[in-house]
Amino acid sequence: MAILNVVQYGDPVLRKETEKVHKVSAKIKKLVADMFDTMYAENGVGLAAPQVGVSKKIFVLDCSADGTDLPQMVFINPTIVRKKGATLSKEGCLSFPGVYTDVKRYQEITVRYMDLSGKRREMTVDDGSLLCRAIQHEMDHLNGVLFVDHVIDRFGTDEQLKEHELPPIDPAKILEEPELDQILVEPMES
Ligand code: ZN
Repeated sequence: MAILNVVQYGDPVLRKETEKVHKVSAKIKKLVADMFDTMYAENGVGLAAPQVGVSKKIFVLDCSADGTDLPQMVFINPTIVRKKGATLSKEGCLSFPGVYTDVKRYQEITVRYMDLSGKRREMTVDDGSLLCRAIQHEMDHLNGVLFVDHVIDRFGTDEQLKEHELPPIDPAKILEEPELDQILVEPMES
């Protein structure tokens, strides 16, 4: 049991592509246990390995705070194999303490992953719920993508970042998401 240091926005490890896990070793199991301890200590619902400085394809979630009885979940080497629809909601991140902003996410996803026993699993979440959005948020961390890359209100978010002494949004990282915009953004009136 150990609470690890959570790295903050600006640390290059958050932008690195992560490595696949080749074996669920004792070391990986210890890392996962420590990630849960750290996530609970910081009152988070999810935590990805790069956030504790480990560049590996692992994230943990506990979305039971959403009023559900969802268990603790561990995702190893996950991939999103299907995505559909769009939803808009406020997100935060343990690497951005105090910053919350609206981001675009898919409403429905199917994720393939391995659990802590090394068993292959597939999960479909089709309700745009906290679980659905958290999987996408943590999945992004494994690809060096951060929630502010999906930002809608860039300048408002920059103000919050400044207030919390974090670096500004990198405009070159802002994602083009035409398939989500099509659903979420009202067409311009001519
Ligand atoms: Zn995060």
